[in-house]
Amino acid sequence: MNKMHKIDIDLVEMTLDVMKYTIDRISNVTPELGAPKKEEELFELIGETITPEGIGGEVAFKMFRDVLVKATVPIDHPRHLAFVPAAPSRAAILFDLVTSASSIHGAYWMEGAGGIFCENQAMKWLVSLTGLPKESFGVFTSGGTAANLSAMVAAREAWRKKDSGNIGVRALLLTSNGAHSSIQAMAKVMDADVVMIDCPDENLRGHALRTAIDELSEKDRKRLFAVVATGGTTNAGIIDELDSIAEVCEEEELWFHVDAAYGGGALAAPSVRHLFNGIERADSITIDPHKWLFSPYDCGAVIYKNMELAAEAHSQKGSYLEIFKDEGAQGFNPADYQIQLTRRLRGMPLWFSLAMHGTEKYTTSIERGIELAQIAAKKIDVAEELELVRPASLSVVLFRRKGWSAEDYRDWTYRNHKSGLALVTPTKWKGKQGYETISRFCFINPETTEEDIDVILETMK
Ligand SMILES: *Cc1c(COP(=O)(O)O)cnc(C)c1O
Repeated sequence: MNKMHKIDIDLVEMTLDVMKYTIDRISNVTPELGAPKKEEELFELIGETITPEGIGGEVAFKMFRDVLVKATVPIDHPRHLAFVPAAPSRAAILFDLVTSASSIHGAYWMEGAGGIFCENQAMKWLVSLTGLPKESFGVFTSGGTAANLSAMVAAREAWRKKDSGNIGVRALLLTSNGAHSSIQAMAKVMDADVVMIDCPDENLRGHALRTAIDELSEKDRKRLFAVVATGGTTNAGIIDELDSIAEVCEEEELWFHVDAAYGGGALAAPSVRHLFNGIERADSITIDPHKWLFSPYDCGAVIYKNMELAAEAHSQKGSYLEIFKDEGAQGFNPADYQIQLTRRLRGMPLWFSLAMHGTEKYTTSIERGIELAQIAAKKIDVAEELELVRPASLSVVLFRRKGWSAEDYRDWTYRNHKSGLALVTPTKWKGKQGYETISRFCFINPETTEEDIDVILETMK
C-alpha cells in the first residue's frame, strides 16, 4: 500500500466519522446540555493534542466527541433560553459544510462570483424586509459587532466627506441605554465618543433624541455624526420609535443606524412588522442571521441605503489587489462594504436554507418564537409566585420570582444548568427603586415546546 493510498483510506474513515457525527447531532433535537469545565480539568482528561507526529484524526475526533463538545452549551437546545439563543436549520448547517468544502474566497467577484451570487440572493430578501429604497443593499459580516462597526465607520467617513472641517475632529454618536454593549465597544475601536440617552423602559423616542441633541454643547453638536437606534433590544426586545427618530435625524442631517441584530428576523413576522415602521428611513441597518434567521455561526449583515458611501469608507487599495478591481468591476465585491478583506461566504448557508424552505417557512418559524413568548407570559401571569416585569416583547419575557434575591436567581441558574435541565440566565431591569435582578426568557428555537416552559417554571416554585 503506498502512502497516498493510505492517506485516502484515512480520509474516507474520517469523512464517515464526521458525517455520522453531523447527522446524529442535527437529528437530535435535545442534545445534552453541556456545561463548562475548568481548563485544567479538560487538560487532565485530554492531555496535549498538538505533537510533532500528530495524534491522528480518529483520536482527536474521539476527544472532541466524547469530552470536549460536552463542555459546550448547544445553543439550539430547546431549553436554552439565555442570552440570545440560536437554532440553525439543518439545511443551513449542512450547507455550511458545503461552503467549507468548496473553498471559495468571498472578498471579490473575480474569485467568488457563484457563491457571492447566492449570498446576494439571500441579501435581496433581507433588504426587501426593511423596505429601504431599491438601490440599497448589504453584505454579510462575521456578526452584529462587525456590522455595527462597518456602518459607523461608513457614517463617520460620510460626515467627514460632507464637511472637511470634520476631518480630525473626534466624532460623537448618540444612542440609548437600550443599546447593545457592542455600540460602546465599537466606538472605542473607532476612537469616537458615545452619549447614552437614559430612556425610561430602555426605549428611545424622537422627542427624547431631540432633547438630547438640544442639550449638547455647541462643540459637541459639531462632533455629532450619527444616531444608533435599536430594533429589538437584546435585554427586553423593545423596538425604539424608529419613525420619530428618523424625523429628527433627517432634520439634523445625522446618519441614522438601526441595530436590529437580534430583532431583525422579526421583520419577516407580519404580527409585529408595524413596530419597525420607520426602519425604511435608516441609512444603515444591522441584522444577525445567526440569531433569528436560523443560520449557523457566524453570520451577521450590514445593509446600507447608499452603497457608494460604504465603498468610500471600506474599499481597500493595494497594488496586488488591483487585478481584482479590474475583473471584479463586472460584479459585486463584498470586501468593499465592510471591514474584512478575506472572508468566508457566510451568507451561503442562509441562502441554501431559504432556497430550500422558502420564505414562508421562515415567517412561520419566527412567529412561533413570538408566540412562545406570549404563551410563557400567560403562564407567568397566572402563577402565584411569579410576576411579569413588563409585557413580552418580540420573543423576550422579563419576569420575577417574588421574594428572590440576586443570589437566588444565580443559584437557580447554576442548579438547572448543572443538572442539564435548562440554561436560563438572570438580567437586570431598572424599576422605580433602581436596578433589580430578574429572570429572562429569549425564544428563538421553534422546537421549544410549552412543556419545556412548564418544566422550567416548575423549578421556580
Ligand atoms: C447580539 C447583538 C449584537 C452583537 O452581535 P454579534 O453577532 O454578537 O457580534 C449587537 N447588537 C444587538 C442589538 C445584538 O442583539
